[in-house]
Amino acid sequence: MTLLSFKQKLYATLESHYPTSEIDSFFKIILEDVLNLSKIDFALEPNKIVSDDKNTKIDQIISRLAEHQPIQHLIGFTEFMDLKIMVNEHVLIPRPETEELIRWILNDYSTAPNLDVLDIGTGSGCIPIALSKSLNDANINTIDISTKAIETAKKNAEINKVNINFIHQDILTTNQFPQQYDVIVSNPPYVRNLEKAEMQKNVLEFEPHLALFVEDNDPVIFYKKIAELAISAIKPKGALYYEINQYLGKETIELLKQIGFKNIELKKDMFGNDRMIKATF
Ligand code: GLN
Repeated sequence: MTLLSFKQKLYATLESHYPTSEIDSFFKIILEDVLNLSKIDFALEPNKIVSDDKNTKIDQIISRLAEHQPIQHLIGFTEFMDLKIMVNEHVLIPRPETEELIRWILNDYSTAPNLDVLDIGTGSGCIPIALSKSLNDANINTIDISTKAIETAKKNAEINKVNINFIHQDILTTNQFPQQYDVIVSNPPYVRNLEKAEMQKNVLEFEPHLALFVEDNDPVIFYKKIAELAISAIKPKGALYYEINQYLGKETIELLKQIGFKNIELKKDMFGNDRMIKATF
């Protein structure tokens, strides 16, 4: 198979499943990550022969993409804040909206030294790893209920050469945090079953439901529990940061007020949806 015939096969197999723009990005990702080539290499030498083993790998990727498996699972990683983050079926694939939350925290705290940070529901570890890369000598802690997620996050911390303290724990049965923090952050599960109709197959069928879904009758359960614990564990100049369900901004702000947070800021993501909250005293 040549590069050109690979490209033709990719587009022909996937055109009934995905918009062209998405197939374009699959093409680029496979070129870069499976073949170690750029689009310029392709343009210069479209008839270059693809080796047999790469050929088999590419055929496998194409047929799995046709089943809507996420491209990040097929190549094994994604990029988050320019870091390489390994992903698998046990962790949520880090989203660009979460990068915006990280930028907000860094904008507020990047010059402060020795921060104590706690992340709840770490999944791949993308949040504490990205914070650790940009904060000076921070003490970064993270909790997750899933041992498989913690294993993945630990590998990611190793790959990215950062030091993080991992705690295997269910936040819903936690009675208090072990210390005071400058920053508490969480992107907990927040999707209701009633929103399933809006979701794509690659998310619904291949990403962990434990990381995504909450009960329709108590969709802010994690926000409530974390805020109740955080109110007595945030230092005077500290803050609580949440990624939120775009449809639940009002409810989340209301519950933070009830718990005792005075200043609450809501921010939209790049798509114009209510997506992040910062709460202070
Ligand atoms: N904190 C991780 C992330 O932002 C995992 C979130 C989750 O699984 N709900 O991607």
